[in-house]
Amino acid sequence: MRVRKGDLVVVVAGDDASHVARKVLRVLDGGERLLIEGVNRVYKHVKRGHPSSPQGGRLSRELPISASNAMFFCSQCNKGVRVGTRVSETTRERYCKKCKASLGVIGRQKAGA
Ligand SMILES: [Zn+2]
Repeated sequence: MRVRKGDLVVVVAGDDASHVARKVLRVLDGGERLLIEGVNRVYKHVKRGHPSSPQGGRLSRELPISASNAMFFCSQCNKGVRVGTRVSETTRERYCKKCKASLGVIGRQKAGA
């Protein structure tokens, strides 16, 4: 899947499956796993005096999920979609395979490529 940090995705499988668009916080293992805002949240118990939590207690944080459980969110279709890449004369961009809307430019076309 061609997902980058900051993209919006929908979690389609697993405990946190929903139709809500969520932001990708990190892409791990070369795109195999994603850290997604509010998904796979766990409570980590922290002792008093820890730098991130002087009071101690329970700290909420996310764990990565498999990228195969997430789909790219298309704001036109308002749901998770498959993504393609298309190349114009000057740029490469991702697009929604359903409605063909552009999902953003991902780089310039290499000269002579
Ligand atoms: Zn679409």
